[in-house]
Amino acid sequence: MGIEKRNVASTYCELHCVHGTWGTRETSGAGAVAHIQLEGFSHLSEEDIRELERICGPEDVLCSGPLLEDYSHDEMLRVRGVPEAVVFPETTGEVSSILRYASARKIAVTPRGSGTGLCGGAVPVFGGIVLCTTKMNKIIEIDRENLTATVEPGVLLLTLHETVEKLGFLYAPDPGEKTATIGGNINTNAGGMRAIKYGVTRDNVRGLEVVLPSGEILELGGKHAKNSTGYSLMNAFIGSEGTLGVVTRAVLKLLPLPRRTLSLLVPFDSLGEAIRAVPKVLSTGILPQSIEFAERNVIFAAERYLGKKFPHTGAPSYLLIRVDGNSVGEVTSMMEAIGDACLEAGAIDVLIADTQERQKAIWDARGAFLAAIKSGNQVDECDVVVPRDRIAELVEYTKIVSERTGVRIESFGHAGDGNLHIYVIRDSIPDDEWEKRLEKAMDLLYEKGEELGGLVSGEHGIGYAKRKYMLKNLSPGEIAIMRKMKAIFDPQGILNPGKVV
Ligand SMILES: Cc1cc2nc3c(=O)[nH]c(=O)nc-3n(C[C@H](O)[C@H](O)[C@H](O)COP(=O)(O)OP(=O)(O)OC[C@H]3O[C@@H](n4cnc5c(N)ncnc54)[C@H](O)[C@@H]3O)c2cc1C
Repeated sequence: MGIEKRNVASTYCELHCVHGTWGTRETSGAGAVAHIQLEGFSHLSEEDIRELERICGPEDVLCSGPLLEDYSHDEMLRVRGVPEAVVFPETTGEVSSILRYASARKIAVTPRGSGTGLCGGAVPVFGGIVLCTTKMNKIIEIDRENLTATVEPGVLLLTLHETVEKLGFLYAPDPGEKTATIGGNINTNAGGMRAIKYGVTRDNVRGLEVVLPSGEILELGGKHAKNSTGYSLMNAFIGSEGTLGVVTRAVLKLLPLPRRTLSLLVPFDSLGEAIRAVPKVLSTGILPQSIEFAERNVIFAAERYLGKKFPHTGAPSYLLIRVDGNSVGEVTSMMEAIGDACLEAGAIDVLIADTQERQKAIWDARGAFLAAIKSGNQVDECDVVVPRDRIAELVEYTKIVSERTGVRIESFGHAGDGNLHIYVIRDSIPDDEWEKRLEKAMDLLYEKGEELGGLVSGEHGIGYAKRKYMLKNLSPGEIAIMRKMKAIFDPQGILNPGKVV
């Protein structure tokens, strides 16, 4: 069968904003020129499918049937692209063979974990192969002496949490979506609710095995607690959204599991007051495990979604705070200091959740905020991060944007990190109106984020949907260097084309 070439992504995508013209993108800057190939990808032939089946086994190659649809979008649903084949490799060797073959044939390859991403990162906008890691799902080793867990990329976050916690360890990153894979978390540099105390995924990765598009396998970092040995290539792959290589194994940092946690639910008369209380909490010298904020509407949505009552809904805005430590005395004194700081900052009350059930009620609701907002509706999101002291201004501005564009906007997020999740919600707005209003709302929100010294994404990544905003937000010099990096690792541009840079 002959090789067909394709030049444009438009037949595969139905995104609201296709960012620029597809083709070879040329970047000049910092003295040199880097090319990113975005054209001439091959369609898969019968022969290609047979080769993929030879590499992985026929049971691990999906190339027809309704299940393909599941791999044509992620959780945000707005970016679409149908794969020509989905492969489920089970070993690093298989990943290497797939990539080597795809490079030789110039077939686009999109890595994918659970597909819970929120910006189209795992969507094959150029068709080709989706390389799904969900069958590489072994926890290879828990090393008690080095305090590390070595895992395959398809291990789910919830499986890792449960496994290490039973052994008395904490894997600290705690993004809301627990069915995400560790490979996805690493590639989006996922944040989550414990980032304020324990950092984001990047801070908890010690080593990676990565397969380059050429099929070459790199071992980067390891079980070492520190590393100043040359440039950190490992860190280049963290947060690279599957555009530089495929992560096939990770060595993760473990901590002793704190024995006690205690949660506070702090109602305020306004969101501004709630947000302004955060620096006061931090100035107590105590670093809580989590400081999240939410307005009452989002809490009502979570109540409806979960069919469970939230412990308190009488106030317009809330801070949800969790502390951890090793004794009742330790967490109690933290709670008292934080409670006092909140009351001084104008809190209506400070409610303490000291039993597992009460804490669960609060954090289950927090975990359901996004699903509750999305439930039965179309939404798009902005995950901008601003300096902590500017977050209240951004939240206030969302109300202005809502009035100016006539769309409903809800937000919640990581108050302790300055990372706001803003959801623009369609409700019953007709198609053409929705696209116009959504684009206007997004443009205004990102402009404001930039004015407040913010960055386009705090934790969900750029993927396909946020490229336009990242290309505006970062300096031409930065973008030029990113494109050169991409060209070094992936000279043919076959790996996750159309994403990030
Ligand atoms: C309800 C809900 C709540 C969420 N809460 C949070 C939150 O609190 N914090 C947060 O940060 N995110 C959150 N997310 C977003 C999402 O869960 C994360 O982005 C997660 O890291 C994606 O993991 P995944 O396995 O689903 O990856 P996918 O969506 O499949 O892929 C994400 C990106 O990683 C790449 N990729 C995946 N695996 C590999 C690999 N092995 N090698 C190379 N590239 C790879 C893909 O190409 C893609 O670019 C939430 C999502 C939902 C739906």
